[in-house]
Amino acid sequence: MKASHWIIGLFVVSGVISCKKSDQNDPNSAPVPPSEVPATPPPAVDPPAVPEPPKPGTPDPKANRLPHPPLPPHPANLPPPPPPPPLTKKLRPTRPCLHLHDRKLIMNVAPTYDVIIVGGSHAGLSAAMTLGRCLRNVLILDAGSPCNFASEHAHNLLGHDGESPQEILNKSREQVLKYPSVTYQHSKVEVISGTDGEFEVISDQGISFLASKIILATGVSDILPAIKGISECWAKTAIHCPYCHGYEIKGQKIGILSHGQAALDMAMLMKNWSANLTVLSNTNEDIGFDQRRIFRENEIELIETEIEEVAHSNGIINSLSFTDGTSVSFEALYIRPGIKQPGTLALDLGVELDHHGFIITDHAQRTAIKGIFAAGDCCNPSRSIALAIGQGNMAGMCLNHELIVEKPKEELIDRTHS
Ligand SMILES: Cc1cc2nc3c(=O)[nH]c(=O)nc-3n(C[C@H](O)[C@H](O)[C@H](O)COP(=O)(O)OP(=O)(O)OC[C@H]3O[C@@H](n4cnc5c(N)ncnc54)[C@H](O)[C@@H]3O)c2cc1C
Repeated sequence: MKASHWIIGLFVVSGVISCKKSDQNDPNSAPVPPSEVPATPPPAVDPPAVPEPPKPGTPDPKANRLPHPPLPPHPANLPPPPPPPPLTKKLRPTRPCLHLHDRKLIMNVAPTYDVIIVGGSHAGLSAAMTLGRCLRNVLILDAGSPCNFASEHAHNLLGHDGESPQEILNKSREQVLKYPSVTYQHSKVEVISGTDGEFEVISDQGISFLASKIILATGVSDILPAIKGISECWAKTAIHCPYCHGYEIKGQKIGILSHGQAALDMAMLMKNWSANLTVLSNTNEDIGFDQRRIFRENEIELIETEIEEVAHSNGIINSLSFTDGTSVSFEALYIRPGIKQPGTLALDLGVELDHHGFIITDHAQRTAIKGIFAAGDCCNPSRSIALAIGQGNMAGMCLNHELIVEKPKEELIDRTHS
């Protein structure tokens, strides 16, 4: 190894570290887009000595080596670390901020992370916390529109019952960003390409990032019924989850906008919270004889006329009017929105979806595509904050385990020294 080579390596690494210290975890600090990197060639530097691959037939000099020594002792007991190695692809800068002369040396190299998490709400932040605690370099890219932001209060979440969704997320983000290897950026991911170990992620600002692994924590988009007035009442008095908000509407006069077997299932469930239920099939004719009988036996009213409008005051439902000119008063409406993946990221990657549109994962939150994990609503029809946090946690643990199995030990030593 040449002396000039060591000096340049030391120089670049110290630049990377000083940048990281000054701006890490600042959500506003944007990475340097590759387009800003000067196009002039780097100063002439001897390339690092790459060992020649063994010629076919020649004996492998490493063949008789002893097995690897055990893992090093706790970092606190180690002697001072050796000088850092020259910058190679293996040394991963956690931040894209580099001084001008450093940029020349590593130009065209996009910032590289162990993991990029797409979506920084409950599932994404939970995965990030686990991975930050595993000393992984993590970038969270978040478009900042979680599905429950229209709600004033979130419920059924131990430790946070009744807090606003915004409050819960702010607290979570603050805790996660205390881990120095985790970075958050407010931006939307447009494209993910590549394969396990070498994914490229491009944001809507056209900035490119590299990562070994990806976690999709993008949630889902709700598709509300196209009935006048419903979107204004959504998350206020038009709700979708009795476990999240059923307690708050207990005993009220509730309309259930659904049909077929789903309407019957929901009506029987909602009986737990109110005896004053009306199923609104909105002209869908798939309610069978047996279902009608069960409705009658359970004193659940059935209205099959087409709904014209939901009348409300600032999202508080007053009544429903029908196309036959009638109207019925209600206090709350239970609806079953359709869902879709936000954007085409999952489909473009070839990740498998189930017939409802959720990403299919295994128990370790792995998708069918190697290196791509998913957590939270995007892969879980039982949508809840607690479950999204649990799945994020699981994805973080399993992904870290996968990296430990795949990555050489030297990188671990490097990370514990930084
Ligand atoms: C109206 C409503 C009320 C609810 N109330 C409750 C409740 O009281 N209690 C409860 O436990 N659960 C509740 N839920 C369910 C709960 O909100 C979800 O289960 C939870 O938010 C799922 O978390 P998540 O991280 O998977 O997805 P989300 O919270 O939806 O977050 C997904 C994140 O990914 C981002 N994103 C998407 N695509 C991209 C992209 N391409 N690039 C970058 N970022 C992207 C989004 O902007 C968003 O920030 C409610 C849901 C709704 C719709």
